[in-house]
Amino acid sequence: MEINKLVRPNIKLLHPYQSARDEFDGADKKYVFLDANENPNQNGVNRYPDPQQGALKEKLALLKGVATDHIFLGNGSDEALDVLMRTFCEPGRDNIITLPPTYGMYGALAAINNIEVREVILLEDLQPDVSGILAAADRHSKIIFLCSPNNPTGNSFEARHIEAILQGFKGLVVIDEAYIDFSRDTSWIANLQQYENLVIVQTFSKAYGLAGIRIGALYAGSGIVSYLNKVKPPYNINRLSQKKLFSRLLQNDILRRDVTEIISERQKLVEKLKAIKFITMIYPSDANFILVQVDDAQRRYSELLGKGIVVRNRSNQQRCGNCLRITVGSPDENKILLKTLKSM
Ligand SMILES: *Cc1c(COP(=O)(O)O)cnc(C)c1O
Repeated sequence: MEINKLVRPNIKLLHPYQSARDEFDGADKKYVFLDANENPNQNGVNRYPDPQQGALKEKLALLKGVATDHIFLGNGSDEALDVLMRTFCEPGRDNIITLPPTYGMYGALAAINNIEVREVILLEDLQPDVSGILAAADRHSKIIFLCSPNNPTGNSFEARHIEAILQGFKGLVVIDEAYIDFSRDTSWIANLQQYENLVIVQTFSKAYGLAGIRIGALYAGSGIVSYLNKVKPPYNINRLSQKKLFSRLLQNDILRRDVTEIISERQKLVEKLKAIKFITMIYPSDANFILVQVDDAQRRYSELLGKGIVVRNRSNQQRCGNCLRITVGSPDENKILLKTLKSM
């Protein structure tokens, strides 16, 4: 497969904007930096951040077992997805394929960028309809978005389905692993060498507990990553966020502690939700949320809200009739949730 043939022609020819810090790497303190019109008075953030996030990528490369040039960082994984779409999809001509019910950003970004969305609904067992997906694709189909574990259903896609799509599709296959840390499955990062069209997106917003700093990571072949670097805003990850994530990556025990607690709370919740009479189905979850079907989603949503608990009503999504998506909270929050549900 040729990444050069997939990329938008104007991006292939693009001479990217050169920021001052691209032109001269600012890590070495012995220089007097008079090139970026910064204010010289030190306050911790008076200098622009590293545009290539070198220190962070070196740390991540070690943790994930990939080379630094296989890593792209975005201002949240939402930005990584947006840059990916703007790099590969020609507005008004190309299309993407999504598998509803799924994360809404794929469709939203496509709509903003005037990219056609072809929806191939998940099968009744919530697995991808592989033959339907491959039949929906044509030569203008640039990206298929697979979300595994899937938001909002919570299930993971079987490896054989993902493999069949990777082998049968001529464009990029994105696996959004926002919830991978809560799953028994391992990341597809290990398969990057094997599939040139594989793109993996992860986030620090969920298991890592850093939603507020907005950083997401994309892992792909170096050809794809270098195109994304041409398109991204020069200083897309601010200095405070880079610093915060760097120090967080040195404390791997926090991730393990949090994930263990959330998974154990998820199992407890699943057990106890069975006793709630108006919950008619509990979907198995590999994530940090549980999708439940209730008798009347709008009514139960409003009742919960009236009692101070906010969940997500996902009823308008395909295969999610009367479904509420409930995030696993802290042990105390989950106790309040269960007490409230019992009182309804
Ligand atoms: C929450 C979520 C994200 C995270 O987006 P960020 O921009 O990194 O916060 C990405 N994909 C899915 C499926 C999600 O549910």
